[in-house]
Amino acid sequence: MNEMRLKFLSRSENETFARNCVAAFALPLEPSLSELSDVKTAVSEAVTNCIVHGYAGREGWIEIVCKTEEGRLDVEISDEGRGIGNVTEALAPFFTTLADGERSGMGFTIMQTFMTDFSVVSEEGKGTRVKMSKTFKKAEPDAR
Ligand code: ATP
Ligand code: MG
Repeated sequence: MNEMRLKFLSRSENETFARNCVAAFALPLEPSLSELSDVKTAVSEAVTNCIVHGYAGREGWIEIVCKTEEGRLDVEISDEGRGIGNVTEALAPFFTTLADGERSGMGFTIMQTFMTDFSVVSEEGKGTRVKMSKTFKKAEPDAR
């Protein structure tokens, strides 16, 4: 079992920082390149949501807690932003409250597709916490 915690400001440049930190932490589990890229994409979607929806341009803290155990990575990403009133509605593909042409409403769907487990807890005015985990397949023995 290993664990790390990361806390950073909701600035857009920290999205790349955060997904690379999580990927680096997961490396000892020997994920494949495609598994690692799935994790990076999911983390990037969750962090972007904290920045653009949770804090909507304001500055606030985003926290990531990561644990690894027996081929599995657990990631929790939380903000103390405005929260989500109706989580079921927010999880539906193509649902977005920011229909400015930049958002497609696919972030949560991407997280659910790319990770093994996924859940969201949120309270209006309090914040949002996304919990995800990914189980990495055992590396194929070398076919040499
Ligand atoms: P895309 O991710 O495709 O750019 P999107 O961010 O709108 O578009 P999702 O990531 O699926 O789509 O999120 C759906 C909706 O859930 C958002 O439009 C927003 O209303 C709400 N939401 C998601 N994350 C948060 C958050 N951290 N805080 C507040 N609201 C959120
Ligand atoms: Mg999104």
